[in-house]
Amino acid sequence: MFRPSHIFCSLTTVTIASLTHSLLKAQGIKTLSAMAPHIEEAVQTNTPPCKSFGRAIPYAHQSIHPLTLTYTASQSGILNHTNKLPDGQWTPQTVLHTLPPHSQPRANTSSPVAFFHMLERLKTTKREGWRRFGISQGESISDHMYRMSIITMLCPSSLRSRIDMNQCIKMALVHDMAELLVGDITPVDGVLKSEKSRRESTTMDFLCQELLGDVDGGEAGREIKQAWQEYEDSETLESHFVHDVDKMELVLQMVEYEKSHEGRIDLSEFAHVASRIVLPEVRQWCEQVLEDQKAYWKSIDKKHSASQNGKEAQGMKEMQDEYYSHEPERKQ
Ligand code: ZN
Repeated sequence: MFRPSHIFCSLTTVTIASLTHSLLKAQGIKTLSAMAPHIEEAVQTNTPPCKSFGRAIPYAHQSIHPLTLTYTASQSGILNHTNKLPDGQWTPQTVLHTLPPHSQPRANTSSPVAFFHMLERLKTTKREGWRRFGISQGESISDHMYRMSIITMLCPSSLRSRIDMNQCIKMALVHDMAELLVGDITPVDGVLKSEKSRRESTTMDFLCQELLGDVDGGEAGREIKQAWQEYEDSETLESHFVHDVDKMELVLQMVEYEKSHEGRIDLSEFAHVASRIVLPEVRQWCEQVLEDQKAYWKSIDKKHSASQNGKEAQGMKEMQDEYYSHEPERKQ
């Protein structure tokens, strides 16, 4: 039996225009808003037929209303359609224009309140990587940055003596701030790392210059942008530490989700990120977490694919390698 989820699963990679009115009708879907639960189901279950585009493509020639459909999907909180814009066309306004009039931030004022409201989006935007595994109510971007900030405060003494802790904490707090408009673009989204960086940099200019530029002479805005840029450039020891903490936080969350789902989901493809941790102090923490992960899977007597020997896991590893290999060269 052909199910709506078989089409919708490929939303992130195949144009949404592959849906047809007649097909929707055949599935008993009468209104566009009725599609949202099916989209959610599809993204959450990520069932095997959806990994092949073959089932969706036969419908691609039909005429429909792709923008309306895409908007509906976006409203469901699952698909950030602006990610799909061609390189160079995305601007902060692309997203801001989709907000209701009462939520549009007012730029160039002496008050930081519009900026404060924009930060709410970090609380409501989920980290995307987990969705493919059915974790739709997972951590937000600010959840991730909060724990990173605290981990940063636990900087071991061997590093602490040669590092500016305050700068590290600032970097942890702001490094993913641009995602409030850009969204959490992951290696599977097909957006080039250079384009992702361009979008994030433009967003930080919008936040720090247009929203904060006239607030107390723009000092706080400059400070936030400077901390964000230092993390991006990845040239200082402080930024190397925070990059490592970023990966460490992901590994912690990976193991926590595996445990809270009692071994029903296997997130081992993310473990690969651990191998990119550079500083021995953070690597040591991470090894402890991975040991704990191993012991957990053994204790529940289930097989864990941490070996990543499947074709799919290998493909993901290559994708992540390609993605993370664009990080600036680190100087030790
Ligand atoms: Zn991060």
